Amino acid sequence: VQQIARERLVQESQFEWRQQDTSLSLLDGMHLALQRDEFYLEYQPQFDSRSGALVGAEALMRWRHPTLGVIPPTVFIQEAENAGLIQALGQWALRETAKAWCQLQKLLEQPLRMAVNVSFPEVADPSYAQQVIDLLDQVGMPPQYLELELTETAMMRDASVSLLNLRQLKAVGIHIVLDDFGTGFSSLSHLSDLPLTGIKLDRAFVSPLPDHGPQTHIVTTMLELAKKLRLETTAEGVEDHACLEVIRHLGCDRIQGYIYAQPLPLEELISQARQGFKT
Ligand code: C2E
Ligand code: CA
Ligand code: CA
Ligand code: CA
Repeated sequence: VQQIARERLVQESQFEWRQQDTSLSLLDGMHLALQRDEFYLEYQPQFDSRSGALVGAEALMRWRHPTLGVIPPTVFIQEAENAGLIQALGQWALRETAKAWCQLQKLLEQPLRMAVNVSFPEVADPSYAQQVIDLLDQVGMPPQYLELELTETAMMRDASVSLLNLRQLKAVGIHIVLDDFGTGFSSLSHLSDLPLTGIKLDRAFVSPLPDHGPQTHIVTTMLELAKKLRLETTAEGVEDHACLEVIRHLGCDRIQGYIYAQPLPLEELISQARQGFKT
């Protein structure tokens, strides 16, 4: 019930955001918000589908606005991209996540793999890969514990620069995952174009499972294809036991979703990790 209430709250707040044309005032605030430390991250845990062990976490951005309350990323990320602010935000998120990794690594038995969402303008910057590598080095996070989640729109333009960046990042051991897999137009061509290490199935396909419609066939086929291409698979939006069973049975590698946990503040992730997550 709590989950549903929270979801509804998020949906309603997004609805309100779209209703008002707050873009201009939002943008004004965004320039200052970074300096004023108003952004923060929550971490949603990821689990090995076979053992159920905690293996990673995805960092998800939120904006605590001084008067408007918490603004979800679906409202401000696009604005930040359009305003040329996403590079600064992205670097901030990466640094925060790397620092969180260091903290977690001291407290947990197994180091986690931290996933960070990346927007197109970031990867299209010729110095992006070097910036990421330098940042990890400064903070002390080994590259093999970082995963970058790319959306398809992130790859539409400037493919050659982006490609060079991704190759360089993959070469140092960073995991490169295609996010929201299956929702765009060119997912399949990206599987051969990009130096990927994995795909992430969008919750639009995952959450409705099990069903007797086409969803099960679509997910089955996506997982088979990924396996043939030796890509690691993560399912997001696993909300109940029936869905978890199907996803496991179909051989998906990693699980993320409300059945285990919502995105959590770092302290909460740590305390729940110590107690052991339950479905
Ligand atoms: P996404 O990367 O596809 O993230 C998954 C979204 O699904 C998250 O929403 C998460 O809270 C939600 N979710 C996770 N498990 C479940 C579940 O079991 N059921 C349901 N119904 N939802 C679930 P959130 O945090 O609002 O993020 C929305 C989007 O904002 C993300 O979609 C991502 O595209 C973008 N985003 C978030 N943080 C960042 C960031 O730091 N940088 C960039 N570029 N984009 C970000
Ligand atoms: Ca993501
Ligand atoms: Ca998604
Ligand atoms: Ca279901």
